[in-house]
Amino acid sequence: MSFDRAAVLAALANVKDPESGRSITQLEQVHDLQVNGSDITLKLGLTTHSAPLWDETREEVAAMLKQTFSGSNVTVTIAPHQRPAVPAGATGLAIKSIIAVGSGKGGVGKSTIAASLAVGLVRAGAKVGLMDADVYGPSVPHLFGAKAMPEPVGGRLQPFETAGLKLMSMGFLVPASEAVVWRGPMLHKAIQQFLGGVNWGELDYLIVDMPPGTGDVALSLSQSVPLTGAVVVCTPQDVALIDAVKAITMFKKVNIPILGIVENMSYFVCPDNGKRYDIFGHGGAQRKAQELGTPFLGEVPINIQLRINGDEGRTGENYNVVDSAPYLSQLCYRLVKNLSEQHKAKPPLPTLSIL
Ligand code: ADP
Repeated sequence: MSFDRAAVLAALANVKDPESGRSITQLEQVHDLQVNGSDITLKLGLTTHSAPLWDETREEVAAMLKQTFSGSNVTVTIAPHQRPAVPAGATGLAIKSIIAVGSGKGGVGKSTIAASLAVGLVRAGAKVGLMDADVYGPSVPHLFGAKAMPEPVGGRLQPFETAGLKLMSMGFLVPASEAVVWRGPMLHKAIQQFLGGVNWGELDYLIVDMPPGTGDVALSLSQSVPLTGAVVVCTPQDVALIDAVKAITMFKKVNIPILGIVENMSYFVCPDNGKRYDIFGHGGAQRKAQELGTPFLGEVPINIQLRINGDEGRTGENYNVVDSAPYLSQLCYRLVKNLSEQHKAKPPLPTLSIL
């Protein structure tokens, strides 16, 4: 049996790049395509922005080719594909997706989930920054054991680098013990400095840990950069959900799309007897997400080691926590998958004709 190279290319033209939503052949992401008899081999170029979807995309392309060319032996490998971020707005940031993580109130695990999302994206292969904009309780330095910000270079703040991430926090500028009472204009200035004055470099994702409740920072962010959207973290009980809905309403008011809801502290599996307890109830966030027509990204159980990692500055190790890691990975996967689906659903760009 032997297949035609042009036919294979035509089939590949229907595959969309998960980052841009455009055809992989149009964007020259198919490399070293060889069709020898029934053997089809190719390298698929994918960007680090899509890193959590690499395996899935490779498998989907291989399955599609096998089905279209019955009897073929297909080998698809992934090769990194470079596509620089387009510098955005006045800040000149070269960041592809800026994602705010918020909650209705404190203590629901917003910072833990924001930090875990950032770590998960790095582990998948993406370039990630974590900006702690929680002026009222900046906990990111503590979560990562980051004591002080590196010295500025050339008038620009340098992010703290750990666990493969770039971190910047209000906590570096204000002592942790001092509750910050900042009003709108000061907050706005601080946010702008964190966006434009920090040497973030090129990033696929900037995860922004937002202060709970208040809309000031959200407003400043949305005025300063094109925000991709917000993730809202909540716990399952009714009172917490009421606050989460307020947070969602606040983001919507400042035109920030909701990328998904996370239910944290969803349940607890007792390490002594393996019994599960729904301490704060269970499933409330998912039901609320359905009600609001908002994506649900998943649930994360209460896990003592996650708390210990946070307290000991070892949040970078959260994915080593056996009974929480799959849930954390799933949050990253669903977040990126939803972004990819959004891009694919956009109308295709017109094909450029080569004259
Ligand atoms: P927030 O940012 O909403 O105020 P934090 O992320 O600071 O909340 O979390 C509050 C506390 O709860 C921290 O001690 C953190 O380690 C702990 N915590 C958060 N999520 C979990 C979880 N899933 N399991 C166990 N402890 C958690």
